[in-house]
Amino acid sequence: MKFNYCPMCGGKLEERYSWDEGGVPYCPKDDIFFFDTPKPCIIVAVIKGDDILLLKQSYIYKNSKVLLSGYVTNGETVEETVHREVLEESGLKVKDLKYLGSQYVSNKEIIMLTFMAKYDGGKITKSSEVEFVNWSKLENAICEMSEDVVGKKIVKRVLKELGYEQQSCKRK
Ligand SMILES: [Zn+2]
Repeated sequence: MKFNYCPMCGGKLEERYSWDEGGVPYCPKDDIFFFDTPKPCIIVAVIKGDDILLLKQSYIYKNSKVLLSGYVTNGETVEETVHREVLEESGLKVKDLKYLGSQYVSNKEIIMLTFMAKYDGGKITKSSEVEFVNWSKLENAICEMSEDVVGKKIVKRVLKELGYEQQSCKRK
């Protein structure tokens, strides 16, 4: 998002040179640069044996399950976001986080930082934001995630990582 006005004081931003970034919108009153950066977001595949944690939130996809995800809050590390979001949306604890790379979602200006994590205790307790959250069989997950293109890519990667042979939905 390109800023023209300061989101803090409302003043018009001026272009100032910052390191090697070229001209960047800058507020002289607040002394802050407003870089045109994407919003960081985590998406995590939680694994327990042959199971993967999937959610349903019909405001996102009507007939598709999705992986757990959430925005990184200012002041926390990305790893803390993973632990916090998993706990908030499912009530579970996770361990052994593994970073799987990132995906840029251009229409939303989001940079998705993808992880897999192992289940580390707790019982599933659904938050009010979530319609459904439960374990699915890893080998069925891609079929259940029909509309979630980014999520399916991540699950494929997870299946490969865990040594599964089938990495696509064979069901019609
Ligand atoms: Zn300002």
